[in-house]
Amino acid sequence: MRTLAVDMDDAALRGWLTEEDPQQLERLYAAADAARSAAVGPAVHLRGLIEISNACTRACAYCGISVHNKEVQRYRMGRGEILDCARRAKELGYGTVVMQAGEDPMLTRPFIADLVSAIKRETGLAVTLSLGERSRADLTAWKEAGADRYLLRFETSNPRLYARIHPEAPGRPDDRTTRRPDDREVPRLAMLRELQELGYQAGSGVMVGIPGQTWDDLVGDLRTFQGLDIEMIGVGPYIPHPATPLAHDFDGAAEHGEQVPNTVLVALKMVALARLLVPDANIPATTAVATLNKETGREDALKAGANVVMPNLTPPEYRALYEIYPDKACVNETAEQCHSCLAARIHSVGRCIGSGSGDAPKSQRRSA
Ligand code: SAM
Repeated sequence: MRTLAVDMDDAALRGWLTEEDPQQLERLYAAADAARSAAVGPAVHLRGLIEISNACTRACAYCGISVHNKEVQRYRMGRGEILDCARRAKELGYGTVVMQAGEDPMLTRPFIADLVSAIKRETGLAVTLSLGERSRADLTAWKEAGADRYLLRFETSNPRLYARIHPEAPGRPDDRTTRRPDDREVPRLAMLRELQELGYQAGSGVMVGIPGQTWDDLVGDLRTFQGLDIEMIGVGPYIPHPATPLAHDFDGAAEHGEQVPNTVLVALKMVALARLLVPDANIPATTAVATLNKETGREDALKAGANVVMPNLTPPEYRALYEIYPDKACVNETAEQCHSCLAARIHSVGRCIGSGSGDAPKSQRRSA
């Protein structure tokens, strides 16, 4: 019988990723759920998500708020609006706010630093940033202002696939070169290591089912999670957005049955395997999974190893504009509706809502 242990070899990982037998999959999810219970316990931590700007200067071929989308109306929330959302997070009992945006140069170093320190001062919440690839000087200033965590998905560990879907920022004065990118790995890994060096808890993740992505690429993604020893691992299916090149004129599906489908099933298998390989990471039940299976996607991910959800606090007038892919889950809800829906889903699978900032045990170990 195929093993399910932290030291699984690549062949075992590939075998589980391509497994279709429902009984075997139940075994996989049960093992991941037991590993989750032993390593991080029953609590599900809530991170309040504030999508502070959908302006973006990057040309990521997959993303609906990249420069490719000429139709979407752009917005940038003001300081007061963002602080109101953070106060709402505190009232709703969340331990963390996550400020996410496109790569927007108008989110300047001092603007974000001031915002981080104001949120920390007023609410005491943990602050997570997810603002794309930023300079070491920005990251340092924001850490000094009190930021705790940074999320930056590396999207795929295959450098050739990454290069096809993720063009570099053209002509940008670039102190990112000090990160010494290595041709054999995707450039975002250097920034993730830098975040760890600067004292951030670093989160990352991948999309599954990118055109051209193979099963071996997913094995590489899992090995990369292990190697980075990151605090948070997010996995969601790639969902085509009609205003992006990847949805149309991208001639790149992998051949001979190697193309990974962009399904909830593959995402759940990745969640379970990530939990088994990095037991004490925080792993979210992602919105992309909930978007493709609105009925039970979140619950299924919680049962396959996840222990975090990210209720959306973005004001309703902006939510629909943060359209990274179509028909996004929770887009028509207020913060309160999103909160009660997610709380009910968490309780329905026999779990409780976590209190405090919900740091991954590995970060506590590291700072001890
Ligand atoms: N600009 C920041 C960055 O690139 O990290 C944060 C915002 S970006 C929109 C957040 C994440 O959305 C990306 O890391 C990517 O994994 C996900 N995403 C974007 N487009 C997607 C798509 N079409 N399908 C699934 N996930 C997508």
